[in-house]
Amino acid sequence: MIHEHDDAEDGDLVAGPPEVEVPDHVAEAIRTLIHWAGDDPTREGLVDTPRRVAKAWREYCAGYADDPGHHLERVFEEVGGYDDIVLLRDIPFQSHCEHHMAPIIGRAHIAYLPKDHVVGISKLARVLHGFARRLQVQERLTAEVADCIWKHLRPRGVAVVIEATHGCMTSRGVRTPGVTMTTSRMMGVFRDDERSRKEVLALIAKG
Ligand SMILES: [Zn+2]
Repeated sequence: MIHEHDDAEDGDLVAGPPEVEVPDHVAEAIRTLIHWAGDDPTREGLVDTPRRVAKAWREYCAGYADDPGHHLERVFEEVGGYDDIVLLRDIPFQSHCEHHMAPIIGRAHIAYLPKDHVVGISKLARVLHGFARRLQVQERLTAEVADCIWKHLRPRGVAVVIEATHGCMTSRGVRTPGVTMTTSRMMGVFRDDERSRKEVLALIAKG
């Protein structure tokens, strides 16, 4: 678990993977894939590719070494009587689909209605990236982010809306560029109270 990055810059949302040696069998697996795809893994341009691909995948999947809930442990009780929606809009993220290991590229909107404490706003993005940097399906990613905030912050409501394009749809299979998939998870008052849900969805739609 990576626990020492609380004060990292906002841009550094998940700690990078430690410098790793790529084991031979991993490089060999990637050479096999290159050959299977139709190219010659021994040609000059591809010689170092297996090592680079292996390292890139460690980075794409850095979330496995992260405990996203940890980012929500430090809370601020002093909220000056603020009891309205906190929303982080348009958080860009990248993930990979677990069916094709193809990129999922999208934006997330994360909102919660605090009860008695709030978190630093960059922490919501850290939670997102902690789950996104794994092999995912968008539905589960949406649910995991919402559940994590719900469980750790115990707010009155959580709303997570994710819009993303899936490489496995845009560049293979039905090859439909520009199609966006939207998923959402509403918890607490955002699920049970229609007025609250409308309010948060209107805030998300703004912009
Ligand atoms: Zn896929």
